[in-house]
Amino acid sequence: MARTPIMAGNWKMNLDHLEANHLVQKLALTLKDLGHDYSATEVVVVPPFTDIRTVQTVVDADDLPIGYGAQDVSTHDEGAYTGEVSTGMLTKLGCSYVVVGHSERREYHGESNELVGAKAKKVLDAGMTPIMCCGEALDIRKAGTHVEYVVGQINAMLAGLSAEEVAKSVIAYEPIWAIGTGEVATPEDAQEVCGAIRVRIAELYDQGVADAVRIQYGGSVKSSNVRDIMGQPDVDGALVGGASLKADEFSKIVTFLK
Ligand code: PEP
Repeated sequence: MARTPIMAGNWKMNLDHLEANHLVQKLALTLKDLGHDYSATEVVVVPPFTDIRTVQTVVDADDLPIGYGAQDVSTHDEGAYTGEVSTGMLTKLGCSYVVVGHSERREYHGESNELVGAKAKKVLDAGMTPIMCCGEALDIRKAGTHVEYVVGQINAMLAGLSAEEVAKSVIAYEPIWAIGTGEVATPEDAQEVCGAIRVRIAELYDQGVADAVRIQYGGSVKSSNVRDIMGQPDVDGALVGGASLKADEFSKIVTFLK
């Protein structure tokens, strides 16, 4: 089954609204110059909450085919949850994606697989697409138990999701040791785990769901390594951190086929 590749830029806690405005405009222009076909490879940016309105304004003004979303979301709808942002607030801003369970949320905010699964469900209920992150730390990789570990994360995260919900979700395999370190997994490392995730989804649901779900690799993706990573049969895109903050570099990543 042909899956449309999806390239998403996670800006993390970077860029004020002027910089965000500039980056999206420059990204759109650069992709236009490169003749990018958005129907062949989807492009998504994931700014901090404070820049979402800015991105919406730029995207709407020129009717740009760039998707955007948030880096996290609350499991609550409204009320006394200081500092949290609801799915309703995000849909009002035109968001179509929400990253859930990024390793930095897990590490600094103690997010469990169960909470990540609940957030994904909330995102789906609101009509948006979750980008569900998973991935092992270096000690697990060194112990050689990374595949079982990630499959365990998948089992727990997907426990409350139906076949239809999983089929339209995105999963991002991001080995923690490769995030922001410059240490990229080899294409074979990425394929090993992305392939195991797809096999597990076929076991949990059916082959149709496994064939439909898009699985990204994330961890020090750059224009110089994206092509080999995207050449793997079970890698359907990339979740890109640092390299998504530069329009030229992210455009080259998005247009990896050229
Ligand atoms: C990320 O934060 O999701 C990520 C993959 O970061 P980087 O590309 O900088 O390693």
